Amino acid sequence: MIYAGNFKTNHTRSSTIDYIKELNFGLKDKKAEDKVYIFPPLTAIDFYRGNFTIGVQNAYPIESGAVTGEVGIEQLEEFNIKTILIGHSERRELLNETQEFVSKKFNFFKERGFEIIYCIGEPLEVRERGEKAVIEYLKEQFIGIDIDYSNFMVAYEPIWAIGTGRSATVEEITTTHNELKKLINRPILYGGSVKKANIAEISSIDSVDGVLVGGASLNSDSFLELVLH
Ligand code: PEP
Repeated sequence: MIYAGNFKTNHTRSSTIDYIKELNFGLKDKKAEDKVYIFPPLTAIDFYRGNFTIGVQNAYPIESGAVTGEVGIEQLEEFNIKTILIGHSERRELLNETQEFVSKKFNFFKERGFEIIYCIGEPLEVRERGEKAVIEYLKEQFIGIDIDYSNFMVAYEPIWAIGTGRSATVEEITTTHNELKKLINRPILYGGSVKKANIAEISSIDSVDGVLVGGASLNSDSFLELVLH
């Protein structure tokens, strides 16, 4: 299983250092085959040692240059960062990232060999129209994306399940992941209110290769409870 923790706009450099210490202590009991990723805010990016991979929640598709407020390859290389989240619904919605821009970003980081966790997910009104509508919607989020790229995974994150406490049901996750597996031969993570109470049932679904976790990753103890469940 893959366990990825997305801190979003939480934690400081100092609290991330403490978190990593606690995480490293707990990860001594991790199963060898499990993989852990942490996505801290950009200001807390650094060289951290441990049995996990540090990635960034975002970067601009540029080597370096004039893009006020963004970071590019030059800033990531300083810390040997080679893993990035692309397409998170918060960036698509709050920051108006279009599919055209998201796919441009995907291709830019793909060309530089980055490991990409590519996020997709439908809004509630689409889910309410049924599974067929969901898959049609999700397919649009692959426009411009090279699904044959060998260094990416998909994170299926229904928007209505993110940060709401209401996870998708086992049946919804199973059906959607199975449909996605027919289209894409890559690992698929589930994201959306994953927590201690549902990790066992979600991780036991065959087509779930891992989880992308927001809220329950913010505290090292609660994230470790998921990883070590
Ligand atoms: C996320 O934003 O990627 C996420 C899954 O958040 P949460 O776990 O808080 O629903």
